[in-house]
Amino acid sequence: MKLAVYPGSFDPPTLGHLDVIERASRLFDEIIVAVGRNVSKVALLETEERMDAIRESTRHLGNVRIDSFAGLLIDYAKQMKADAVVRGLRATSDFDYEFQMAMVNRRLDTDIESVFLMTRWDYSYLSSSIVREVATLGGDFANLVPTPVVPIVRKALDRRR
Ligand code: ADP
Repeated sequence: MKLAVYPGSFDPPTLGHLDVIERASRLFDEIIVAVGRNVSKVALLETEERMDAIRESTRHLGNVRIDSFAGLLIDYAKQMKADAVVRGLRATSDFDYEFQMAMVNRRLDTDIESVFLMTRWDYSYLSSSIVREVATLGGDFANLVPTPVVPIVRKALDRRR
């Protein structure tokens, strides 16, 4: 049984995230998508909304669990008895940060492997922050996120108004 944790902010989950989840679910026996409970002033969705959004978007996958965590990722991964942490890599901008995190995480626990999945061409410039920006400014974001995420983001936008 190989278990991987895929951590992130997922504010909101995008088609890029879903692509990573789908591909990781073929590589591992089980994936836990873990929403980080970090307090951020710019957050659009509540943690529970992010979890619901991911749950609704991954119903077609039989081996994906949704959870949230606070504190050190590596402690959480250890607690879940994960074999690996999965992260996505987009254009060069992600590399330095992800490299540093992977190095630190390996120092903290040598048994948990960091696995990186390269983005798909179509999603290489897609980020949650772009979706938040387009959505907040009234643009059409429906083709950037999985279908079940659209009403959840709309509700959050209404709440802000
Ligand atoms: P974090 O704040 O932890 O970076 P994000 O939700 O922004 O959380 O991203 C979670 C993970 O998903 C990161 O590894 C990020 O690089 C990856 N990711 C985000 N968008 C994409 C995308 N379009 N294609 C591939 N990976 C992505």
